[in-house]
Amino acid sequence: MKIIAIGRNYIEHAKELNNPVPKEPMFFMKPETAIVRDNKPFFYPDFSRDVHYETEIVLKINRLGKNIETKFAHRYFDEIGLGIDFTARDLQQICKEKGKPWEIAKAFDGAAPISEFVYKKKYPDINQLSFSLELNGELVQEGNTKDMIFPFDELISYVSKFVTLKIGDLIFTGTPAGVGPVKIGDWLVGRIEDKVFFDFQVK
Ligand code: ZN
Repeated sequence: MKIIAIGRNYIEHAKELNNPVPKEPMFFMKPETAIVRDNKPFFYPDFSRDVHYETEIVLKINRLGKNIETKFAHRYFDEIGLGIDFTARDLQQICKEKGKPWEIAKAFDGAAPISEFVYKKKYPDINQLSFSLELNGELVQEGNTKDMIFPFDELISYVSKFVTLKIGDLIFTGTPAGVGPVKIGDWLVGRIEDKVFFDFQVK
């Protein structure tokens, strides 16, 4: 399986990092080795001094697809979860300045903690879904999928023009504003609506 992650999909987040608001989706990839499950701790990597959390709704692809039309994209996922797109912001900044790819800042081991997945049908409208992150008990990120620049179906359609989607692939759909650094000892609690989806420590 593979992880596709969408960058700059919430206007307020694009602004907070001084990035232009994109006219089409942008994505990058993380390998399977980035996944952390079951609330296991995130181990702070020794090659960065500025690892940031980015809380994101994650889609789980349930069928093979290429060149998927937007109007059919909803058929390609049944389940959603919550994840963190951990980013070594210091390394990413250097990559951006030098025009290098982002992998060392985004694809490292442990950079994609994910929750359990639940059926999207549980929710009346997944395009109006609130989600949040608490850091050491303080609310630091709050988003709603209605604020996405490109909704889920458009993301699936766009990505599948370039990359065949397979069963079990994950799509991180972008983070709202409020990203910030973590440090060893921090606790991260992520929610969709009022339900806790993950709860883990940085070690
Ligand atoms: Zn992200």
